[in-house]
Amino acid sequence: MTSSPAIRCTMLEPDIAVLTLDVPGKSANTLSSSVLQELSDHLDVLQPRDDLAGLIITSGKPDMFIAGADLREFVAFLGLPKEKTHELSRDGQRLLRRLSLCPFVTVAAIDGICVGGASELVSWCDRRLLTNNDKTQFGFPEVKLGLIPGWGGTVRAPRLVGLSNALELITSGDSIDSETAVLTGWCDDVVAVDQLLPAAVRLIRDDQRTGKYLADRKRWEQPLEPNETELGFLGVTASAWIRQQTKGHYPAPMAALELMAETAMLDVETACEKEASQLAALFGSPINAALLNVFFLQDRVKKDTGIDGTEIVPQRVESVGVIGAGIMGAGISAANVKRDVSVTLSDASRESLAKGAQQVFEEISYNKKTQAADVRRAIEKGPLLNLSHSEHEFSSCNLVIEAVVENLEIKQQVLQAVEKQLEPGAILASNTSTIPITTLGEQLQRPADFCGIHFFNPVRKMQLVEVIRGKQTSDPTVATAVAYTKQIGKLPIVVNDGPGFLVNRLLFPYMNESIELLCEGVTVAEIERAAKSFGMPMGPITLYDVVGIDTAVYAGRTIYEAFPDRCVVSPLLPAMVKAGRLGQKTGHGFFKYQKKKNRGQHDPEFEEFLQPFVRKKKTLTPEQITARLFMPMLLEATRVLEEGIVRSARDVDLGLIFGIGFPPFKGGLLFWADTIPGKELLETLKPFESLGKRYQPTELLKDMIAGGQAFYDR
Ligand code: NAD
Repeated sequence: MTSSPAIRCTMLEPDIAVLTLDVPGKSANTLSSSVLQELSDHLDVLQPRDDLAGLIITSGKPDMFIAGADLREFVAFLGLPKEKTHELSRDGQRLLRRLSLCPFVTVAAIDGICVGGASELVSWCDRRLLTNNDKTQFGFPEVKLGLIPGWGGTVRAPRLVGLSNALELITSGDSIDSETAVLTGWCDDVVAVDQLLPAAVRLIRDDQRTGKYLADRKRWEQPLEPNETELGFLGVTASAWIRQQTKGHYPAPMAALELMAETAMLDVETACEKEASQLAALFGSPINAALLNVFFLQDRVKKDTGIDGTEIVPQRVESVGVIGAGIMGAGISAANVKRDVSVTLSDASRESLAKGAQQVFEEISYNKKTQAADVRRAIEKGPLLNLSHSEHEFSSCNLVIEAVVENLEIKQQVLQAVEKQLEPGAILASNTSTIPITTLGEQLQRPADFCGIHFFNPVRKMQLVEVIRGKQTSDPTVATAVAYTKQIGKLPIVVNDGPGFLVNRLLFPYMNESIELLCEGVTVAEIERAAKSFGMPMGPITLYDVVGIDTAVYAGRTIYEAFPDRCVVSPLLPAMVKAGRLGQKTGHGFFKYQKKKNRGQHDPEFEEFLQPFVRKKKTLTPEQITARLFMPMLLEATRVLEEGIVRSARDVDLGLIFGIGFPPFKGGLLFWADTIPGKELLETLKPFESLGKRYQPTELLKDMIAGGQAFYDR
């Protein structure tokens, strides 16, 4: 039995053929080897035909043209020899290039997502049409996977839109919308979805009449004219921008820049050959493998219901209540309204409610493109926000999230009062960052319908959400919380109740160790440098100042009370709180700040303040400092796995990448640990074992190393 085809060929008019991609059983079209083979087979039949005026390539899926190459195949190809990857790239280039050599006009009619290999495919067509659908986007995200386009994208793009526009899109990896695509010359026109095919036919007829497509083909086959001034300018500005964005950790954007600056002036054939060589050099590198892992960590969340084994249909959440209109409550409300979920927001204080409401309106009306408030957005989304002083208005909500001050008694009072208002089946959640969900749920009538939904600050930026399962939380409650957080665009991980949940529990050993290092005489600059060279977005000392020293002490208490065997409590932080050195918010902490939000500057007064706390002066190498910072985090992660706090090593990695900015190019803490031989890990720990349990290998780690196991069951 043959499987259903992914590409249908039909005749729209007697001389216009249409290839419609619709990979059976999938919500997204991808260009797998078998789909490429089908495309090749169709072109074998169509290309020799001299009775055709045109060929249209389109998709049969709503809001989805093609999501690029099949990344699962990429993973399978990671170990291939370089020559084989080079050959696969050359095959892809040759196949897609046929679209620019057919004896008829080729038009890509694009509705929905068109990225990666799909953008390469359409770039080889004579014409591109995009729809005005909000979901339509065009881009080359390859650099975000540590790669460059390898099916001729780097060759064709500068010839279509000029070197500058091509570099901007390919080296950033960002996608653009239809409007920007037409302005920058990537597409010929933007039309309504129902006008896509008629407009494609019109383009074919016009081109047949004028012969313009033949002139364009000739031009796009030529090298670009070198313009030394433009090239010099582009080289300097683009490489400075790339260096600033990648901090030297991601080689692909710079490789794309250098390649395109060279090959734009070469003939197409030589340029394609060089592109294939560069792709082969990057493909399968540790960074490429790590970034593919990050892609699959996110993809896994899409399919995960939060519950293993049983099939549970989550409740649809259409109306949410948020209690507490502070920083978090306002952020959570805005996240809902932006995704068309109606919100009832309340606060005990009128003033706080008004302030919170203003924050919500500012966020929902913000237009990224114009970087200003957009009244139309406020009018469109505003009615979804209902402000209230009474919990009686929560009776129609499917879900109520408590985000009041971090105080057990107040939270319990609020939760009990609102529980009485809810319909059976509605669920209740707390955004607490430190109080156990099981404790909060103890006084409730229906603790099974209660869980933690822990958003991160700022909610607008942070995709990660921890769904906390208390001892009594039911599976349907977890499944609904997971589905709901995905509905509002977040990445949820399910975490069993425990001190610090997942992310704060793993962050603490790293942060705490930076204080220990300071007290051993390592300088702030050395610690910050080690963390940043490892790839963290900011060093732990800066993070203390951003979070606030008082908040850090408060949150840290939960952890060191729970795990006194491996926490060293330094008197430095409480002394800083006492001295009013709270970080950015007071203008000085570890650093000093000219204005509240400015970058911290070296503070000689802090050096003096620190001296009484320095126990001994130690000299550590940068590698030792790095090990001191990250090994306790790794060991704590093995304890988290031992205790079953999360269901998979992948949850740990997703949580750290999206919760604290653990470097994506390392693939995640445990993915990274898997790249280090077990013996080496033990040797790294050895010199520090005398510091106590926080540097001694756990049973899980020892067993894994002895058994030759990895954290990932690849
Ligand atoms: P916040 O102080 O900004 O806001 C708390 C709000 O709760 C205030 O507006 C206050 O008026 C209101 N409130 C107090 N008692 C109330 C009551 N009885 N009924 C209704 N409203 C009441 O605090 P926040 O930073 O938004 O934190 C809220 C919750 O989110 C806390 O549990 C905190 O631990 C958690 N959290 C905070 C962060 C963060 O970085 N700020 C991150 C994750 C989780």
